[in-house]
Amino acid sequence: MPMSKQTLGFQTEVKQLLQLMIHSLYSNKEIFLRELVSNASDACDKLKFEALDNDALYEGDGSLHIDIAFDKDARTITVRDNGIGMTRDEVVQNIGTIARSGTKEFFGKLSGDAQKDAHLIGQFGVGFYSAFIVADRVTLTTRRAGETGGTRWESEGAGDFTLEEVAKDGRGTEIVLHLKDGEDEFLDDWRLKSIVRKYSDHITLPIRMRKSNSYGENGEVIVSDELETVNKASALWARSKNDISEDEYKAFYKHVSHDWDEPLAWSHARVEGRQEYTELLYVPRRAPFDLYDRERRHGVKLFVRRVFILEDAEKLLPQYLRFVRGVIDSNDLPLNVSREILQHSKDIDAIKAGCVKKVLGLLEDIAENRAEDYAAFWKEFGRVVKEGVGEDHANRERVASLCRFASTLTDSEEQTVSLKDYIGRMKEGQDKIYYVTADAFAAAKNSPHLEIFRKKGIEVLLLSDRVDEWFASSLTEFDGKALVSVAKGGLDLGSLEDEAEKKEQEAKADAFKDLVGAVQGALGERVKEVRVTHRLTDSPACLVAEAHAMSGNLERILKSAGQDVAGSKPILEINPDHVLVAKLRSELGGERFGDWAHILFDQALLAEGGTLEDPAGFVKRLNGLMLALSN
Ligand code: ADP
Ligand code: MG
Repeated sequence: MPMSKQTLGFQTEVKQLLQLMIHSLYSNKEIFLRELVSNASDACDKLKFEALDNDALYEGDGSLHIDIAFDKDARTITVRDNGIGMTRDEVVQNIGTIARSGTKEFFGKLSGDAQKDAHLIGQFGVGFYSAFIVADRVTLTTRRAGETGGTRWESEGAGDFTLEEVAKDGRGTEIVLHLKDGEDEFLDDWRLKSIVRKYSDHITLPIRMRKSNSYGENGEVIVSDELETVNKASALWARSKNDISEDEYKAFYKHVSHDWDEPLAWSHARVEGRQEYTELLYVPRRAPFDLYDRERRHGVKLFVRRVFILEDAEKLLPQYLRFVRGVIDSNDLPLNVSREILQHSKDIDAIKAGCVKKVLGLLEDIAENRAEDYAAFWKEFGRVVKEGVGEDHANRERVASLCRFASTLTDSEEQTVSLKDYIGRMKEGQDKIYYVTADAFAAAKNSPHLEIFRKKGIEVLLLSDRVDEWFASSLTEFDGKALVSVAKGGLDLGSLEDEAEKKEQEAKADAFKDLVGAVQGALGERVKEVRVTHRLTDSPACLVAEAHAMSGNLERILKSAGQDVAGSKPILEINPDHVLVAKLRSELGGERFGDWAHILFDQALLAEGGTLEDPAGFVKRLNGLMLALSN
């Protein structure tokens, strides 16, 4: 005798959750389909698992699939699987109660604010009940594999549900959603298929729907009864590396990256440990057009147990690796992990840290073994990678090792010199890494600050990318060697200079005291200080910043970006060996001395790429001098 229909009450928490969910998640209602498909997929996985020991559970039908159908007249959507199914007791257990650890804490945290609660609900997992976001009645009919009788569960999502014994032919679960008024948008072939592709493309089972209508020769509608598989139905990354061909990796890259080109390299690994996940990450060959666009569209896709969760460049990898594409598939995260949760999740942090290491390892490998490819990579993405030195403290040295620079060794704009190369070539007694920054390569290359270094054959890195100022201020030291700007502070070449040279410098500084004082007097507020230098060989003068002050270049970058920077006054250094300086000295006390001093300052400013505050004044002084000479 079959039992008659029975009405049971929901556990209090279920009632609460239902109410909350309907209100909090309404703005994202299409996720109901993702949840139901995910459950169907789980049910099939469970069947596969149990059938390992008991093949009879397949009941002669081992091809597992998920079917989705809709009925415009009845206004229903049906999701059907031939997975494990549920017994009556299991239905009561699984669909009538929430027996999860943390349930109490979860409810304790709820605030009643729909926006805030949405995050919590996401974290907790919406699951089956999300059906009630769009449906006002849900009928679930299920039969467990290997059992004879089926069970029908039905509820309007209020306080209770009914249970009934029914006959069911196929094993598995069928869920019918009776849509609420106003939800007819889901009674649409195209809409449903696109939701499936959006969230469930990589569910490994076929998700089938009836073929879309086509039109015959005379325009008549041909309604097909055939089913078609809507999703790709294979999760490439979940397969073993050995079973995946190069071509398959490349094809998948194109799919996830929306790139037409082939990838430069990829890393595919299953990581076990505190967090269990699979990563398949690609380095593209070419930078996407929106590499510097804050509203960038693509990044790394996050899956949880092969269900697509979200695509996000910012939370899954740091900014400086924003060009990386691919998937991360976690075994441990909750299915409904939201963007907001990602930001504060320790689990995500662990995954992120692991993936950063993989990508850095991949880049190191290219740098070491594929020089040409690395050069191409650096051209495309070098400027972005350099950001990492400031952004990723934990991996600063590793990122710095990956960086390449132009240098006085070649004087070529190509960035090919690594810090390791540089250190390997350091002069006897050299303990610092020298660099110069400028806003253009030519300005860096021709900087007067380099003169003494060129004379002594000491290599200097030529930094002229916009990011370089940030790079240089973030990386104060590499492999125990300080990075020092040749345009900042007093020049101390340490043991690169001998005692005789140092003595001579002191003598000159003494001899030029009167001139230094007079120039300082003439320039007044324009300079912080005037001093004699030995860093120049060809130029009469140059400007330097104090050791810890902002460089002139950075000040100009910030100003051009519209920032109000209180720049510090520069130090004017003059070359005592230069004929013009000697001439200036002979003009001491003369009527043109002031003009000479200002011209010296202005040309030093021009030489480092600066702009004159009073260009007309400069021209006037210069013309005055030219006239005096021609007279
Ligand atoms: P979760 O999937 O996170 O466990 P859900 O609310 O989505 O939470 O589902 C609750 C439970 O209901 C599942 O754990 C499963 O035991 C059962 N269930 C849901 N859908 C199905 C289905 N299609 N087939 C078999 N069991 C299901
Ligand atoms: Mg679920």
